[in-house]
Amino acid sequence: MLKNEFGKEIAKIMRQSSVQEYDCIIIGAGISGLMAARELVNAGKTILVLDKGRGVGGRMSTRVANNQRFDHGAQVISGTDKEFKTLIDEWCSAGVLKPVDYPTDESGAYYFCPGGIRELPIYLSKELNVKVNCRVKALRCSMNNWTVITDDKEVFKSYSVIMTSPLPQSLELLKNGDSTLPGEIAEGLSSVQYEPCIALLLNGIAKGELLNMPFVKPGGASVSLIINNSAKGVSPEPGAFTIHASREFSEKYWDFPGEETIEALLKETGYYIKYESGYLRIHRWKYSRTISSHHDRCVVAETPGLIAFAGDGFKGCDIEGAVLSGISAAQEIVRKL
Ligand SMILES: Cc1cc2nc3c(=O)[nH]c(=O)nc-3n(C[C@H](O)[C@H](O)[C@H](O)COP(=O)(O)OP(=O)(O)OC[C@H]3O[C@@H](n4cnc5c(N)ncnc54)[C@H](O)[C@@H]3O)c2cc1C
Repeated sequence: MLKNEFGKEIAKIMRQSSVQEYDCIIIGAGISGLMAARELVNAGKTILVLDKGRGVGGRMSTRVANNQRFDHGAQVISGTDKEFKTLIDEWCSAGVLKPVDYPTDESGAYYFCPGGIRELPIYLSKELNVKVNCRVKALRCSMNNWTVITDDKEVFKSYSVIMTSPLPQSLELLKNGDSTLPGEIAEGLSSVQYEPCIALLLNGIAKGELLNMPFVKPGGASVSLIINNSAKGVSPEPGAFTIHASREFSEKYWDFPGEETIEALLKETGYYIKYESGYLRIHRWKYSRTISSHHDRCVVAETPGLIAFAGDGFKGCDIEGAVLSGISAAQEIVRKL
């Protein structure tokens, strides 16, 4: 029984549409969704990846302006898992990834993409069936077949679904389609939490420690990281900086007007960067990094239909966790299809 007006609309669309049915539709073309898609394609399955963004990559995002490149979400890649390390070696051999050549204050190897962090998802998405600029609105399952409906009322169908958007967003899409998960599964997925992060991208002049350093972690409660994108080896032109506000600052300033937030962040970082003019953009990551993750690698349910949940909300977190979670979800789906 469809409970809301949107639900009635979905029922109407479902009755009218006769569209191709994929083995699996993957929501999200971040690294988790792309790894899942590759695994499914390698197993001979038909897939479609849908993403609301202008391009692939999700939180592995790079902006380009005036020959300056800014990594404004994820910065570096690291990991300890054996399977993940094999992938890192493969991506290094393909020339997409490189080990960092500066000392880090943490143990273990760190990698970056010289072309900007989004180069890795772009590389991974080659030859995959990906549709961007496509925001999914609702998912509904009837007789083991999924119907995926977008904001533009496009309809796609599949025998299974892998959801890789941050979990609160994934659960919202199911709710919009009146699709109910078994209680224990829904409870586990709802317990995953992410922190927000306000990022500021700017053209400026480095001062002090930041002059030749790729990263500075300033003391104080407002800023967690300042990134010098040219010293990091990402921006061809100097002066491209990214500031990541702390969780505390991001929560406090989340609904503040952009100008006020920018002013506060420039003040907090004035010791390291002088902003004069040029590029200045703010980006609000509502779900930046996981602060409380699910204990499994991924979750698969067979009610209301075959569906898997993956991403960095699961065991491992960050890029490493997202990659392994995507692969694991796809393997589970292949087994059950
Ligand atoms: C500021 C910041 C700094 C970080 N630093 C690091 C770091 O240095 N190292 C590290 O390992 N990790 C870092 N991370 C975390 C890392 O970026 C993520 O863990 C990883 O990219 C998550 O990948 P994912 O595929 O799980 O999710 P995402 O990359 O979020 O992909 C999910 C995709 O789903 C899409 N989507 C959502 N809703 C819909 C919808 N309704 N319809 C269609 N598509 C939808 C989104 O557009 C997105 O592309 C950082 C993240 C942030 C934000």
